[in-house]
Amino acid sequence: MAAQAGSSPDVDQVAVFDCQSCGACCAYAADWPRFSTEDDAELERIPEALVAADLSGIRFENGRCAALRGEVGKATACGIYDARPHVCHACMPGDPECLTARAAHGLAMR
Ligand code: SF4
Ligand code: SF4
Repeated sequence: MAAQAGSSPDVDQVAVFDCQSCGACCAYAADWPRFSTEDDAELERIPEALVAADLSGIRFENGRCAALRGEVGKATACGIYDARPHVCHACMPGDPECLTARAAHGLAMR
């Protein structure tokens, strides 16, 4: 989230990252992204081949979400962006989970 003019120094120091040159949070935890509040119509938009065997979320393989395209830290995209799970919508650049994932991949923290 971009800092606003006239905001406090602390807010001005909040990092702003470009998700399309990152992808770290999509390649961090084996149980991510899980399904949560999706309805049946939303789940049906996700290709079956990308769904985990236990139906808990998107399949995680080779250290990353199976829907992630590209190279983490360079250029990435979500292959099912319009149909991505609800938890993916909640991930915001600069939030604690973002910073944890970026740190795990050795990416810049600000
Ligand atoms: S880790 Fe942060 S910057 Fe990277 S893709 Fe996720 S939300 Fe975006
Ligand atoms: S579904 Fe898309 S946004 Fe969500 S973790 Fe996978 S690649 Fe990232």
